[in-house]
Amino acid sequence: MRNSEEIWRLVDTHRDEFVQLSDKVWGMPELAYTEHRSAGEHTDMLRQQGFRVTEKVAGIPTAVMGEAGEGGPVIAILGEYDALPGLSQVAGIAEKQEMEAGGHGHGCGHNLLGSASLLAATAVKDYLAANNLPGRVRYYGCPAEEGGAAKGFMVRDGAFDDVDIAITWHPSAFSGVYEPVSLANTRIDFSFQGRASHAAASPHLGRSALDAVELMNVGVNYMREHMPSDARIHYAYLDAGGIAPNVVQATAKIRYLIRARNLPELNRLIERVRKIADGAALMTETTVTTKVISAVSNLLGNTPLEAALHANLERLGPPPFDDADREFARKIQATMSEEDVESSFRRSGMPVKRETVLCDEIIPLDAKGGGMNGSTDVGDVSWAVPLVQARGAVYAIGTPGHSWQLTAQGKMPAAHTGMVHVAKVMAGTAVDALADPALIAKAKADHAARTAKTPYVCPIPEDVEPPFAMSSGS
Ligand SMILES: [Zn+2]
Repeated sequence: MRNSEEIWRLVDTHRDEFVQLSDKVWGMPELAYTEHRSAGEHTDMLRQQGFRVTEKVAGIPTAVMGEAGEGGPVIAILGEYDALPGLSQVAGIAEKQEMEAGGHGHGCGHNLLGSASLLAATAVKDYLAANNLPGRVRYYGCPAEEGGAAKGFMVRDGAFDDVDIAITWHPSAFSGVYEPVSLANTRIDFSFQGRASHAAASPHLGRSALDAVELMNVGVNYMREHMPSDARIHYAYLDAGGIAPNVVQATAKIRYLIRARNLPELNRLIERVRKIADGAALMTETTVTTKVISAVSNLLGNTPLEAALHANLERLGPPPFDDADREFARKIQATMSEEDVESSFRRSGMPVKRETVLCDEIIPLDAKGGGMNGSTDVGDVSWAVPLVQARGAVYAIGTPGHSWQLTAQGKMPAAHTGMVHVAKVMAGTAVDALADPALIAKAKADHAARTAKTPYVCPIPEDVEPPFAMSSGS
């Protein structure tokens, strides 16, 4: 098609710089909201490429935005760069070996995620300039995807208010359109306050906050039978009231992570959990206060943008992996179970082809893998503006998410090939939208129809600040 070759050539022009950026970020793994060096590398690259830079988007020190072009529609391309704890791993070997004992690692491939998105934005910037076209392209460097919900805070702050469409991707074993299914979630802390007393001498004077937490958990566990089957509830004790069994525990605190298929369903579930907490407080004559820590919305699809992105994938074909890529992927695959590999195909809606170790075809647009049972803060952006997400094949089929195997593959030639490939898919989709205003109009109409009945309300309450200290354990 008309513009494809030019935009893809522009992506190739910058290949080496962005592969370097990705490798550099891989080598400085930083956790949610502490990505100062990684965000700094992205900021430097934005300046080097001539973008107009806005730092500290939404008051978040490690969020950055770069814009290029004038007038016309605004196309946002979203990237990430946060790493994960405990996934330090030597690159390029097929056995578990930490680089740094207990260190962090890019076990979700966000070094590639940010670099490919910034590469795509750079190519679109060059395309606008070369063709003297009106239109603006923006790269949003979004921190803390792993549990920090930064994009939700950025949406709440209005960072995407004037964006026409948004494009992003996530590292994967397959190439295709990301099935827009994920769970909305929220993290809420329930703090119970009781009354301390000697547990043997005067138990009748004590009111146990720990009892309240335990009764709350019992109540919630009974509720499980009567909630939607795709909802999920998990909890962790933050404060069990101390270590002395001979004291009636005056305080206790538990964090609930509640997930549901969509926002309205999530809100109904939250109400029920709150009632159970109130009931537990009533039973134990304690009091309970709650604090929302973070929340993300489920992903909304966008049919016109999905079709446009898929058309780019079809024109481009699968990533051009070579025999050396497949040889290493085979070694990595040997460290996984049969089940890992088969479920990787199934979750992508693809038939199991045991001899295929690296993606060699595009996932059909109508493939149904069931989406993800996890959550992503991309969901909030998808409620705010029309959004499409690609999956980009960058690692061996069967590689578990958040694993040492994923870190090990993060700066291999296959990862670089996949990263450049998905940058072309995103840049091509952006150029299609810039060349055809009808595509943006259709994307907006689709978005309006999906949100007409349940308009977006940010699930993060106004008074909740981003959990900047989450990675320091506080
Ligand atoms: Zn991720």
